[in-house]
Amino acid sequence: MKTSRELEEKINEIKKLGKSPWVFHVNTGGCNGCDIEIIDTLTPYYDVERFGIKRVSSPKQADILLVTGPVTRQSYKSYMKAYEATPDPKIVVAIGNCACSGGICHDSFTTLGGVDKVTPVDVYVPGCPPRPEALIYGILLSLGKVEQKIQEKRFKETE
Ligand code: SF4
Repeated sequence: MKTSRELEEKINEIKKLGKSPWVFHVNTGGCNGCDIEIIDTLTPYYDVERFGIKRVSSPKQADILLVTGPVTRQSYKSYMKAYEATPDPKIVVAIGNCACSGGICHDSFTTLGGVDKVTPVDVYVPGCPPRPEALIYGILLSLGKVEQKIQEKRFKETE
C-alpha cells in the first residue's frame, strides 16, 4: 500500500511548515459504525499517531474536524460550536455516506442532511462505513488542504 509512505511524506512537508496535524472528531448523529473505523486508525495496526496525526479532546486544539453522521436537528448546535471553536485555517472531512450526503437518513425530518448543508466541507470520504485505508487517504488529502490554507493565510498576512 502506497498510502503509508505518501502520508509520511506529506506529514514531513506539513512539519516543515511548523505544524503537526491534530484532529477532533464529532459525531453529528451517526450510528457509530464510522466512529469505530476512526478508532481503528489509532490502533497499533494502522497507528496514524506515528505520523504526528493526533486525536485531540478539544476543537480549539484541532486543525482538522472529522465529522461522522448526518447532521441531526439535535446535534446541529453542538456541531456549530465545535466548528466555530476550531481555529482557522480549519479543514472539515466528512466521513461516511451519512456525513457526505445524509446517507440513509437524507430525507428524514430529524436531519438537516449531510455536513455540507451546514458548513463547508473540504474532503468527502464515502462508504458505509469507509474502511480505515479510505479514512487515512481522506486525511492525506486534507493535509494538502491544510498546507494550502496555511500558505493562503500567510499570503494574506503579508498583503
Ligand atoms: S455512513 Fe453507515 S456506518 Fe457511517 S454513520 Fe452512516 S449508517 Fe453508520
